[in-house]
Amino acid sequence: MSKIILTGDRPTGKLHLGHFASSLRLRLKYQEEGDYDEMYVFSADMQGLTDNAKNPEKIKENVFEVIKDNLSIGLDPKKITFFVQSGVPELNELTMFYLNLVTLSRLKRNPTIKEEIKQRGFEESIPVGFLTYPISQAADITAFDANVIPVGDDQIPILEQVCEIVDTFNNTYGDTLVRPKYVIPDNKSSRRLPGTDGKAKMSKSAGNCIYLSDDTETVRKKVMSMFTDPNHIKVENPGNTKDNPVFIYLDAFCEDREKFEELKNHYERGGLGDKVVKEYLFEVLESILTPIRERRAYYDEHPEIVEEIIKEGTAHAREKAREVLNKVRKSIGVEYFKK
Ligand code: ATP
Ligand code: MG
Repeated sequence: MSKIILTGDRPTGKLHLGHFASSLRLRLKYQEEGDYDEMYVFSADMQGLTDNAKNPEKIKENVFEVIKDNLSIGLDPKKITFFVQSGVPELNELTMFYLNLVTLSRLKRNPTIKEEIKQRGFEESIPVGFLTYPISQAADITAFDANVIPVGDDQIPILEQVCEIVDTFNNTYGDTLVRPKYVIPDNKSSRRLPGTDGKAKMSKSAGNCIYLSDDTETVRKKVMSMFTDPNHIKVENPGNTKDNPVFIYLDAFCEDREKFEELKNHYERGGLGDKVVKEYLFEVLESILTPIRERRAYYDEHPEIVEEIIKEGTAHAREKAREVLNKVRKSIGVEYFKK
């Protein structure tokens, strides 16, 4: 069976270290290993609009930005197809077919959807498009026969629902769609990176992010004012590293594991100040972010290159999606005219 990798980012803001820790880093790993048939990365503007219908400027501003973030981490447009979701209208038709295979109560039970509804204060008035986004995600994935989906752990319940849709479709209309598998990072801290404020998830919408495009001074300020262990008042006090985002970031990003363990033990024993640990974290992050900033500067200077990459990628993605859509129509029997 072919190995087809697909992931998307909502253009609701620039990408941050949370994205890098999970999905983006896995994309890079797959690119380096090179043992796949196709890889797709897309800007999910239609999905972004589901909770930003009244603020389309925000989506528009970020549609190319999120792709630029992907290019800046070193993803190679010769090896990956980059596209914009709204440029592939076949996805909407697939969504229409899949909407009929899911019940309202099943959608409302999805724990990620539940959580995101709460976060956005949508309890009383959920936009229907937002509620059904796992279904459009099923379209995004199946339209490319994608079977490897590298994500953060908040996407697991969505991917489970996508698999249910695939199974229902195949059981109802005969084997047509490919069942995907999600992939999450081995390192636990990278699956859901907390915010700089200590909240459970670094998230564009929560304003607690270190962005891949932040400059050195901004990163320094954000790291130096990060939430740590509130009970670690004096340097000599023993500190907690478990719920401490500074140590969680080090666990996610520090390659020198010996040094990481040494710092962790020292902090837990007492005698290690937050400032020293933060200085080290700043160094670790800068070593990751510096080459990303350099590549970004190149793409910032050449917006026409970015646009061309996305334009070509979108055309290619459309061709592929059309093939799957034709199969889907045929399986359901929505095919009335002789060619
Ligand atoms: P929004 O708040 O608009 O939903 P987001 O920051 O959650 O934005 P998405 O575009 O929804 O970002 O997610 C893109 C990918 O990044 C998904 O695979 C998601 O699991 C992953 N991801 C997002 N935030 C984090 C995080 N803090 N830690 C690890 N992975 C994350
Ligand atoms: Mg999200």
